[in-house]
Amino acid sequence: MTFRGPFVAGLAWRAFILLVTSFAFVAALATEGLGAARLLAAALCGWATWALWRYIQRTNHELARYLEAVKLGDLSQSFSQRGGSGFSEVGEALEQGIQRLRDERHRLTDASRFYEAVLDDAPTPLVTVSSDGRIELANKAARRLFVRHQGIRFDDFRIYGETFARTLTEDMIGRPRLVPLMLDAVPQSAMVSAALVHRLGGTVRVVAVQPIQGELNAVEIAAQSDLVRVLTHEIMNSMTPVTSLARSAADLMAEVDDGSDPTVSDARAAVETLARRADGVMHFVESYRQISRTPDVRRKTFAVAPWARELESLFRAGDMAEGVQLILSVTPETLNIEVDPDLMAQVLINLMRNAAEAARDHAAVPRIALSFALIPGNRVQIEVSDNGPGVPESVAQDVFLPFFTTKPKGTGVGLSLARQIVLAHRGSIGLGASESGGALFRIIV
Ligand code: ADP
Repeated sequence: MTFRGPFVAGLAWRAFILLVTSFAFVAALATEGLGAARLLAAALCGWATWALWRYIQRTNHELARYLEAVKLGDLSQSFSQRGGSGFSEVGEALEQGIQRLRDERHRLTDASRFYEAVLDDAPTPLVTVSSDGRIELANKAARRLFVRHQGIRFDDFRIYGETFARTLTEDMIGRPRLVPLMLDAVPQSAMVSAALVHRLGGTVRVVAVQPIQGELNAVEIAAQSDLVRVLTHEIMNSMTPVTSLARSAADLMAEVDDGSDPTVSDARAAVETLARRADGVMHFVESYRQISRTPDVRRKTFAVAPWARELESLFRAGDMAEGVQLILSVTPETLNIEVDPDLMAQVLINLMRNAAEAARDHAAVPRIALSFALIPGNRVQIEVSDNGPGVPESVAQDVFLPFFTTKPKGTGVGLSLARQIVLAHRGSIGLGASESGGALFRIIV
């Protein structure tokens, strides 16, 4: 450690004054009758000692203040070399060390900001679960997905399904799982995987929740469409010659049958029945072909209220509306929706017809309801409900499958097509029970 010139000069000067005042004091003591001078010399001597002491202490204070600031994490201070600060090498070494710390802190802050931004904007929803069971949403995607709960405990997450909430508490590190997830009361599937992160002496589980219902739906619909396409193609290929031969045979029989021979008349009737059935099968197969076509969605934003009234008139014009009450509600009245109006109208008319049919066969006063409401996440929830018998639990899983029907003259195309159209809008459709125990179809787009 070396002392700088000005500091040494200051020190020597103060020591010199102390020496001189000490001599003056000793001389005053040794000389008789100098009472006042003794007092003055003693005071000067005391002052010189204090000045020297303070001069040395100032450097200590400076150093102590600086080190205290560093200890509290304040790296903005610099080691001032004013006045009493005499430790030039120490000062410079400290300055350099602190500068390195400043640079390092800057680099770390930069890196941490970057990782925070990456984490926050990552498309996969991330949730952290600390060892004391605190569950927090770690990024924007998670905050967008989990909008319905409040709180940070396991119980608060039950709103998304019991299995999902339990999964958050389980150790599933390295074992991704497909878990049912309830979003807006619509069952979905999510791929859930977790990693363990060590933090502040403890561990935190980072859980990634990736909803993949959309992908599963797309795969399922593609498989169904492929199957329908292959089947209808094969059936049409085989049936086309059968239909035309049956028709030709029926025409020939009509020419030869003059009514004189009952056997010929019977044969003619049989061939005509055959031709009619063959036409029926062709028509039936043709109607299924629409399932194999992925709907082309042309979205538009428009006001719901006038559109809903149009849907009501369309419904009223149909054969199922007679004697059926329709309760229409739009909340708020000014609600807008962004869908393909034609395709979505097709879905809703289908649902309303099914609802009216079920209600008419069941209730003394058949009633159906069509409601539109704005829900969190700026989405629109559409519900079609009725006071019919509802859908039995045993078939609830099947109603959206192509060709599933419980009606003698049903085709099983309506709900399957409705689901395809809703999914093509990246929405969801689910089945529940209405207040009266009838069916309730809920669409969220
Ligand atoms: P379809 O009407 O030709 O049977 P859908 O695909 O429209 O075809 O419906 C499939 C099945 O779902 C119906 O046969 C019926 O069993 C059931 N279903 C649909 N809507 C309702 C409803 N509102 N109430 C009760 N059951 C319904």
